[in-house]
Amino acid sequence: MKHTDEKPTRDSNPRLLSADPIAETRILPPVTEANAAFWTSGASGTWQLPRCGDCRTFIHPGQPLCPLCLTDTLRPEPVTGNGTVFTYTINRYPWLPGWKVPFVAAVVELDDQPRLRVTANLVDVEPEDVTIGMRVTVAFIHTDDRWVPVFRPA
Ligand SMILES: [Zn+2]
Repeated sequence: MKHTDEKPTRDSNPRLLSADPIAETRILPPVTEANAAFWTSGASGTWQLPRCGDCRTFIHPGQPLCPLCLTDTLRPEPVTGNGTVFTYTINRYPWLPGWKVPFVAAVVELDDQPRLRVTANLVDVEPEDVTIGMRVTVAFIHTDDRWVPVFRPA
């Protein structure tokens, strides 16, 4: 990952959001080789997910081997970041101090491949307005060394 002292802005990355609805309490896993693209590629505004170099299947979550052909040729490749809401839930209870409720946790199926699904928060939409099949696009919340992918209405 390329590091710079310059803080990314919405001008340099239009997919970058300024506020995280659960920033104070968002719990993130360690960045590993297998998941680095998921957490950091948003810095460029182009999201990337691991893709098998042999069978060309995007694999999420990232892992050392392709589960379909068992090769170790997974490399990050760009995805559109566009998709549809496959399912979702509205969290209305502040399970941790600092959570701003209600918020939406959704499973989004990306346009790039059937059944390529990502779990993430939906932002910039009232929870009551979310529907299954709703068109969404990825955006990112920058926090420390991560660009946390979230989705908003397309
Ligand atoms: Zn494969």
